[in-house]
Amino acid sequence: MIIQTPSQNWDERVTPQKPEYIIIHYTGTRTAEEARQRFCNPDPDDSIGRISPHYMIDGEGKVFQFVEESKRAWHAGKSQWKDITDMNAASIGIEIWNTGHEFDLEDFIPAQIDALIELVSDLQTRWTIPNANILGHSDIAPGRKLDPGEKFPWRKLELNGIGLMPELLDDDSEPARQLMELPSKFYQHLAEYGYRYTQDQGVLLREFRRHFVPHALHNPDLDVETCAAILSLLNQRQPS
Ligand SMILES: [Zn+2]
Repeated sequence: MIIQTPSQNWDERVTPQKPEYIIIHYTGTRTAEEARQRFCNPDPDDSIGRISPHYMIDGEGKVFQFVEESKRAWHAGKSQWKDITDMNAASIGIEIWNTGHEFDLEDFIPAQIDALIELVSDLQTRWTIPNANILGHSDIAPGRKLDPGEKFPWRKLELNGIGLMPELLDDDSEPARQLMELPSKFYQHLAEYGYRYTQDQGVLLREFRRHFVPHALHNPDLDVETCAAILSLLNQRQPS
């Protein structure tokens, strides 16, 4: 069941006119109620401005809807993926309540992830959204945003048919070893996959890992597993 809690923070989608992506966020708030109020506030007196996702999932797995799917919600901010700079027009935004990096970055709650899987599966079916287009806020605004963060269970989603994750390859994968010797090629592959928002390679490496190779997040160097990951993702992605 979806709880309707309409927000005034939306407008019409311009280009594209229908959602092609799903962007996952965390709220970064102490409570889900605090986030719910913020998403409904048409005139906030704080510095964040008027914001809204289409959906939010609270700590019990309850789903709240703020904006109609056909309308443009305001959750992505300044961001880019491939050549799309209006990611709000191109996507459906889902916020998951979690205190985030500013506080404790606690684990996501199984009931939240169960609800998310159900919601995203339904959205993908109804809007024909491919798995390669399920992204985190940090993917489209690397260096500016960290959510949904390295504790977000992307692999669990993938095991439920949602999103793409790298296949687990042998350490001696030859193409990955070759790529490790060619960092410029590695970053070219990240751009080919969609990463555009920043040219800072250190940031790109970190944010790519935050989503796809989280256990290597703090490795200062390019490693074979991270190289294998981008090759695997490019390989799995349906042509677009
Ligand atoms: Zn976000």
